[in-house]
Amino acid sequence: MARIHLPTPLRPFADGAASVEVAGATVAAALEELVARHPPLRKHLYDDAGKVRSFVNLYKNDEDVRYLEKEATRLADGDSLSIVPSIAGGAEDLSNEEIRRYSRHLIMPEVGIEGQRKLKAARVLAIGAGGLGSPLAVYLAAAGVGTIGIVDNDVVDDSNLQRQILYGASDIGRPKLQAAAERLRDMNPNVEVVPYETRLDSSNALEIFREYDVIADGTDNFPTRYLVNDACVLTGKPNVYASIFRFEGQASVFWAEKGPCYRCLYTEPPPPGLVPSCAEGGVLGILPGLLGVIQATETIKLVLGSGDSLIGRLLLVDALSMRFRELRLRKNPDCVVCGPNPTVTRLIDYEQFCGIPQEAAIAAASASGMPEISVQDLKAMRDRREDFVLVDVREPHEFAICAFPESVKIPLGTLPQNLNRLSTADEIVVHCKMGGRSAKAVQFLRDAGFRKVRNLAGGIDRWAQQIDPKMPRY
Ligand SMILES: [Zn+2]
Repeated sequence: MARIHLPTPLRPFADGAASVEVAGATVAAALEELVARHPPLRKHLYDDAGKVRSFVNLYKNDEDVRYLEKEATRLADGDSLSIVPSIAGGAEDLSNEEIRRYSRHLIMPEVGIEGQRKLKAARVLAIGAGGLGSPLAVYLAAAGVGTIGIVDNDVVDDSNLQRQILYGASDIGRPKLQAAAERLRDMNPNVEVVPYETRLDSSNALEIFREYDVIADGTDNFPTRYLVNDACVLTGKPNVYASIFRFEGQASVFWAEKGPCYRCLYTEPPPPGLVPSCAEGGVLGILPGLLGVIQATETIKLVLGSGDSLIGRLLLVDALSMRFRELRLRKNPDCVVCGPNPTVTRLIDYEQFCGIPQEAAIAAASASGMPEISVQDLKAMRDRREDFVLVDVREPHEFAICAFPESVKIPLGTLPQNLNRLSTADEIVVHCKMGGRSAKAVQFLRDAGFRKVRNLAGGIDRWAQQIDPKMPRY
């Protein structure tokens, strides 16, 4: 009698047995006897043509039978025959619980036990746990990606719940990573969630990226996008990219070793303030869901090594017309980071590269003498019924959410043609939502000869926070 030793993934198909005694005199006869006793094993060991599957390696005692007489190798009493699944790149065994959990994957030949093991061994880093990061992390965890790192240092806010499906009302005020890790571990306890409660920057990006196989970029600002791209090129990692605005999204896979990088597509960032962020311009709540799921799909395909990835293709999604278009991307031979003669060979200062960020610009403007007024002083002026003109430079749909009843409403973009509605003789206070657009308006008015004009620091949002808690915030 010889003894066949079964690997963990095959044991569920042999009534949980770790080894089975067989009488067969050759490897072929022993295997036949094994599958006759445990028929569910057959499809795992043999292909449709009845040949032993290529991932099944067979060892007689400690010798690979391929170097003996293959399946005709003779077995004597006391010999052991070990079935050793080929494990590429540190793939890991699956427990019985995992086999049940992932059964819908395991029965697909494109995934199967081998693919599921690759997913378990995979390490994916999500940059951002917001609108894109939420569905991305949820589906990666559900699919069984073994290690999910997440970089974020934000706190859950009630305006996040319209699209960030990792969080619920009870999470408001909690650090996002704390809430995210809890949710993902509850969804799949087999997954290791590694939280990085920090801001990704040039000092930590390379060190963090080196620990991962795939980087998924779900950020919402240009400095971080260029940082993620360059750090991916420098560490040789694929960058699964998506971006969203209002009703439109883009997705691609940037991988310098196999195709273009983000800088091949966008050599330089737009000037600060030209492209509004989602916080300023808005975003349809389902759009990050759509794009985040595309990111998760591309990530899983990269891990499995199957399908046609978005490398070299830019997918454009328009949710309003529900049209998906595709552009071919080429590697830029002059690319400063992934070209043959790169000038960016280490991480740089990305805030500076993308221009002075808006908040700093506002701070700089006020430091350079931008006249400002606090919400407390505005309240005092209104209470005293002082003679002044309050100008609201937000958009009409924002006026509809909340506004000062007496304000003159002139959206920033229409200010030049509405100058005749204002008088340089009047005392003027300009406001917007947070103080950024109104600072531009104040600058414009001063350049146009208005002298008695001030910016409301913090905008109507600060008014709602500090003066009138009944006013809705958005
Ligand atoms: Zn490039």
